[in-house]
Order: sequence, then structure tokens, then C-alpha cells
Amino acid sequence: MKTYRLHCEYCGWTLIANGNDPIAKSLYVVQDAIIPGGIPKIDPETKELAVPKEYKRKKKFRCPQCGRCVTAKNVKEKNGKEDQSD
Ligand SMILES: [Zn+2]
Repeated sequence: MKTYRLHCEYCGWTLIANGNDPIAKSLYVVQDAIIPGGIPKIDPETKELAVPKEYKRKKKFRCPQCGRCVTAKNVKEKNGKEDQSD
């Protein structure tokens, strides 16, 4: 399971959660407008309209403390081991 870290640079709010975390599910997801991949073109042979795929955007969440947009970052797991160095 992927672990995400949400960190707000403005107020310092941090949340580490995975997709099934109830806290993560309760977060407000900011909806972005879709960016078109380009101008649709008509294929000269088939006369069909080819619409380029839209660009993918990262999911954004609203910080529960200050309301600013926070993007989720993947946290790499250390093979399930905890860091036990002094
Ligand atoms: Zn914040």
C-alpha cells in the first residue's frame, strides 16, 4: 500500500496517511480544470476526429488548517524496517 505525505508549507500542517486512511478520505480534494492535450485533428484518411488525451494533474488537497492547496508526496518505505539508529 502506498503511503502519502501531505505537508503544508504555509502553516506547517503535516499528515502521513495511505489511501484508505479515514483522515485522508475526509480531506477536501481540490478539483482542477482539465488541460486539453492539444487541438483535435481530423484524420485525412478516415475523416475521423482525433482528440488528444488531456494532461494528467496531481491530486490536490485542501489544508484543514489554513485552506491552502497541498499536494501529496509518495513516501518510500524502508522494507518495513524502522530506522533504529541512535
Ligand atoms: Zn496549511
